[in-house]
Amino acid sequence: MKNFVRAGNIVVFIVLMLACATAAMAGQWIQVVTSETGYELIKKAGSGSETFCQLGDVLIINSGDVFNDQILKTDPVNVMPVRPGEKLYLITTKDPAVFNMVFPGTRTVYRDMGFIVLLAGETAAMNLMSKQTDFTKVELLPGNQVVLSRPLTTGITRIKSEDALAKFIDKLDMPAFMQDLTDLVDLKTRYSYVSQGQKAVDHCEEVLKEMGYATSQQPYNIGSSRTNNLIAEIKGSDEDKFGQVLIVGHLDSTSESPRSNAPGADDNGSGAAGVMALARLLHESGIKPAATVKFILFMGEEQGLYGSKAYVKALSATERPTIKAVFNLDMIGFDAVAPLSVMIETSSFNRPMVEKMQKLALDYADFTIHTSFNAWGSDHAPFLQAKIPAVLTIESEFSSNPNYHKTTDLIESINQGLCLQILRLNAAAMYAYAIDAGRLN
Ligand SMILES: [Zn+2]
Repeated sequence: MKNFVRAGNIVVFIVLMLACATAAMAGQWIQVVTSETGYELIKKAGSGSETFCQLGDVLIINSGDVFNDQILKTDPVNVMPVRPGEKLYLITTKDPAVFNMVFPGTRTVYRDMGFIVLLAGETAAMNLMSKQTDFTKVELLPGNQVVLSRPLTTGITRIKSEDALAKFIDKLDMPAFMQDLTDLVDLKTRYSYVSQGQKAVDHCEEVLKEMGYATSQQPYNIGSSRTNNLIAEIKGSDEDKFGQVLIVGHLDSTSESPRSNAPGADDNGSGAAGVMALARLLHESGIKPAATVKFILFMGEEQGLYGSKAYVKALSATERPTIKAVFNLDMIGFDAVAPLSVMIETSSFNRPMVEKMQKLALDYADFTIHTSFNAWGSDHAPFLQAKIPAVLTIESEFSSNPNYHKTTDLIESINQGLCLQILRLNAAAMYAYAIDAGRLN
């Protein structure tokens, strides 16, 4: 229901008047249709002049005359003409403020799940380009690409409960997860520039040390300010063969008054407590993994992914290829509209890893999965830029989270059910990549 309603509300279908259609026939056109219909139309027309971009259930077709001459006859409704000088742009953002922004001089073709597709002329496009940050990417709409897959629904009836992996993830300790999350929120702020930020790092180091992990802090600068990433590690029994698996999330928080009050329960207390929950699960299972597993909490994410950038930069050329998988947890606790849903995000070169995770999700988790191949705006991005296989799991409703970067990002708004499902998926992935790597084939 949710997707249907969203598609109806958010995707802007321009109804074209017939007079207009005849007048502008010889131009370029944009057509927004359901992906199923869209692929059908492309197959039928086969003019070769069209390009498409898939965003979930929707296909945006950008086409020339031949294609549209045929399509207009069959489906004259959801078509908009491209004005001279206009091009299609794609904005990918993790920032709800940008997601809800009005861009003067542009026309909206699509807006959902952190993606905006706009038609913009040259001047408007320059304004768009100036919006690019570490959290917002602006580019020409890619041609013939799937940016966001159609949603994939997992179902409780299919969930396996008897095999070793199921028994492993069933031991996820949710009360301990909620306690860790509460402790992080109780610090009042984990802003990177204040001493309370370092206090959060030291607190988590204590928790992970107590579990028996070898820990270390990696110092680096954010501008002139000094901060530390936290790394907890268990050596694999066969690191030569299975390499390293990284479970990561950012620990820092921000808000309108970040120095004194930035509870960051969802962003990213949920992911940071999630990293610790996965560390606790592995520790309490008593299993020695085949791969070396590192649990990493980054600081400086909110200022521009400083922690993950520093981590990737410090990797030697020989170490990089030993990292087989990076799982980034950022905002895993907001879900206001049923059913529970998650976004899995990576780059297209890393499609095989996402396909393995989708398979694990079908067997061991219960939510709707949206898969994005346009990675941006969190700590998986620097890894992917270095061609290290990395995947982000994030609540799919992040762009409508009203508490984002606000002092109201409190425990009360955390959906524990969503946290559990996202942790189950990451726990299954940790098992598959670090403990029983044979499962991957
Ligand atoms: Zn975050």
